[in-house]
Amino acid sequence: MRNILFVAFVFALSFSGRVCAGNPVYSDKSLRNDAEKLLMEWVDTLLTYQCEGLHPALDGGFLCPACARIHGRIGDTVLPLMYLADKTGDDKYLLAAKEASCGIFKFSCKCSCR
Ligand SMILES: [Zn+2]
Repeated sequence: MRNILFVAFVFALSFSGRVCAGNPVYSDKSLRNDAEKLLMEWVDTLLTYQCEGLHPALDGGFLCPACARIHGRIGDTVLPLMYLADKTGDDKYLLAAKEASCGIFKFSCKCSCR
């Protein structure tokens, strides 16, 4: 799980212009398209593990399929989710990012996402 989030984070960073500037590997369109497809596949799978309606304390978190726990570092998912929300225009990524953000600040969040 941690590796997936790290790769997704690095992938999203590659679009910031800092990592890809002048690097022929990252300017390859077919590689970029493959990476975007992979990111979308991983994030879509990740979203199947996002908790909703099980218990208010769990909402927004991601239930680990390996150990059936919610690990920390939910915040690491926000960047790839926001990237895909921007890239695809699909509101499911934006909503998931919002719910994940609320999961980070579970005890102080007063927004209407719950
Ligand atoms: Zn686990």
